[in-house]
Amino acid sequence: MRVTVVGSGYVGTTLAACLADAGHDVTAVDIDPDVVAAINDGHAAIHEPGLDDLLSEHAGDRLRATTEYESVPDADVTFLAIGTPSNEDGSIDLGALTAAAEMTGEALAGEGNGSGATPDDRHLVVVKSTITPPGVGAVREALHAGAGDAADRVELATNPEFLREGTAVDDFRHPDKIVFGTESEWATERLETLYEPLVAATDADVPVIRTDPETAVMIKYANNAFLASKISLSNDLGNICKRFGIDAYEVMDAVGLDDRIGAKFLRSGVGWGGSCFPKDVDAIRAAAREAGYEPALLDAAVAVNDGQPERMLELLDAHADVAGGRVAVLGLAFKPGTDDVRNSRAIPIIEGLQDRSADVVGYDPVAAENTRERFPDIEYADSAAAALDGASAALVVTDWDEFAALDDAFDAMADPVVIDGRRVIERRAGLTYEGLTW
Ligand code: NAD
Repeated sequence: MRVTVVGSGYVGTTLAACLADAGHDVTAVDIDPDVVAAINDGHAAIHEPGLDDLLSEHAGDRLRATTEYESVPDADVTFLAIGTPSNEDGSIDLGALTAAAEMTGEALAGEGNGSGATPDDRHLVVVKSTITPPGVGAVREALHAGAGDAADRVELATNPEFLREGTAVDDFRHPDKIVFGTESEWATERLETLYEPLVAATDADVPVIRTDPETAVMIKYANNAFLASKISLSNDLGNICKRFGIDAYEVMDAVGLDDRIGAKFLRSGVGWGGSCFPKDVDAIRAAAREAGYEPALLDAAVAVNDGQPERMLELLDAHADVAGGRVAVLGLAFKPGTDDVRNSRAIPIIEGLQDRSADVVGYDPVAAENTRERFPDIEYADSAAAALDGASAALVVTDWDEFAALDDAFDAMADPVVIDGRRVIERRAGLTYEGLTW
């Protein structure tokens, strides 16, 4: 099939590369000429394992990138994979997505860069971006406004994406489920044909959910809200365990054996961050409120998450006065395997240390540069050992494997106080060690 993917970020580039690899003819569109040049050059503007291999294999052949919307009228399917960030109040900002939808519509009307459509043509535009149920109407409106007289030939569908940064290609190729939100059998069949080679390649029986566009996008929010809440509930229970001197991991390992609960996402600690959970939970809470419903449990999940960094700092206060002292923050990324620091728990931890007048030294194997944009004035060490050298305390914020093997590095600390927010450091003699929930 001929596919256009509008937006070439984490999701759009992964989608374009995987669809080309599955045998489709793909045009990737982005407003950023650097992103376009990189893809045509056979590599991605973002770091994702396996993505450059696919791009270098297919760029110039089944895959090309452009800043223009010219390929839209000839595409069998056009995807919109544009960012949907938060407004100040947490609600979803649909500005970039509706602008892209309108330009897509214009291309189909023949008013934009496109060559125009023939009257019997029917076009399918599929939203890959994460949007709220009321957002579906807003995107459809923008698309149809752009299409003008051609609007009745342009159909909107939704196909939410569940991939994770750091494992995007693998997640896209091996999904737990595929969700089609369509308004017609024609659109469903078109998406089924598009996905057929991908599903056939998985060796697994991937469940395909066929539903309407609003239900499909709600599945994505319910999914992320559930995962974020599962961690927050583990943290809430973990905080109770800590009060009673109980190891929350021993408790939750046993709890996870209940197959109604499952073993994943029960690791308590300093909380969730990143570009998706906070934004998506905030967006669905704001949309719920707008519709007159108070989402009490999701509000509590956010409140528990927001409180975890402060709990870590309180544990530090119980063991050390860090004013004027050197304090190491080990891990700056929101999770291991990425340089993404958006909503990283390291941010409130560093702010809390600065409030206590500590001299902060941060270390992360890949995320120091991104953190420097937010905190240009703290010290950045080249290794965890260098960060610990002379420090009066250390706080572990990201569970990078290398932190588990630090061993003798703690001996170089001025005062070996370690507050572990991720359960990666082993308790050992000579170390004043506090686990956040154990
Ligand atoms: P991103 O910010 O990495 O990429 C968006 C891209 O769109 C950018 O390259 C930008 O230049 C481009 N763009 C903006 N306006 C444009 C326009 N008018 N025309 C063409 N290109 C335009 O975003 P992302 O992380 O890929 O996320 C996209 C959507 O997918 C969001 O709704 C997000 O919530 C959702 N999502 C993201 C992930 C993830 O892990 N990143 C996972 C699942 C779903």
